[in-house]
Amino acid sequence: MWLGRMKVIKMTGLKGWLMTIFLFLYSSTIFCSDCNFNLPYCGLSCNLDLSYKNLSNIKKLLNNGDKFVALTFDDGPSDNRAGDIISVLENYKAKATFFLLGERINKKTSEIVKKIYNAGHELGNHSCSHRKLTLLASEEQLQELEKTNMAIKNAAEQDVKWFRPPYGCYDDNLIENTNRLNMYSILWTVDSLDWQGDKPEILIERVVSNIHNGAIILFHDHNNKSGTVEALPQIIKILRKLGYEFVTLSEWEGRVCNIVKAKGIPIEEEGEVHFKGILCGQRTKSLTAEHLY
Ligand SMILES: [Zn+2]
Repeated sequence: MWLGRMKVIKMTGLKGWLMTIFLFLYSSTIFCSDCNFNLPYCGLSCNLDLSYKNLSNIKKLLNNGDKFVALTFDDGPSDNRAGDIISVLENYKAKATFFLLGERINKKTSEIVKKIYNAGHELGNHSCSHRKLTLLASEEQLQELEKTNMAIKNAAEQDVKWFRPPYGCYDDNLIENTNRLNMYSILWTVDSLDWQGDKPEILIERVVSNIHNGAIILFHDHNNKSGTVEALPQIIKILRKLGYEFVTLSEWEGRVCNIVKAKGIPIEEEGEVHFKGILCGQRTKSLTAEHLY
């Protein structure tokens, strides 16, 4: 609406130039200039090219092995959706990873966190406030990460290994801070876009048509309008019929590492494998594209 109104304002000369500069600066601020990404909520990765490269790398790497995918749920714990999601996962005996927001963990939702963990799922850090961490000072970034780890630890006694940056936005400094806390950053390869509030059949089609071996599938558990809970049973049934197992991210990492080792792809530091851009760790060398072709 704001931009629409601007269209009818005509300015010429110096005023016009000043307005152009203002508009450029304004749009850079609100549209996350650091990552060339302008969707308002968790959606496509801001590092789209990077993700795309990784997506094709992962597909090539895993194309003949055992079939597995990782279901991930961001933005919880929500007290209205998480319970339903856990029940569906339990009914279909599927494991998943939940990326939690520190500020949503309170006395009431701690019980949900515990329930998720006790059901055998993995808990990850999705920041405390869901702000775009690349816009914060380094100290504030660390606080966001540490507060959330502490809240998860208090609720479920689990040390957190995985971090997913809000909006998929990260930079070197954020990755360094994540590593300082012994965590790895991870994005996703298949986006359900369930935050848009689409009907279940649209979500099912979107996930199933984009599936590949080793997929990391992004859902949310915060939105009443989304068809996530309704779509989930069908998605699990279809993927299981196609031969996929449902694993936590730590299991996902273990399987990918084993496949890489079995295929004899050189790993510079023994024991761990990191896909540049998807998994980032200062303690290990990134596995670069040329290793995968
Ligand atoms: Zn999010």
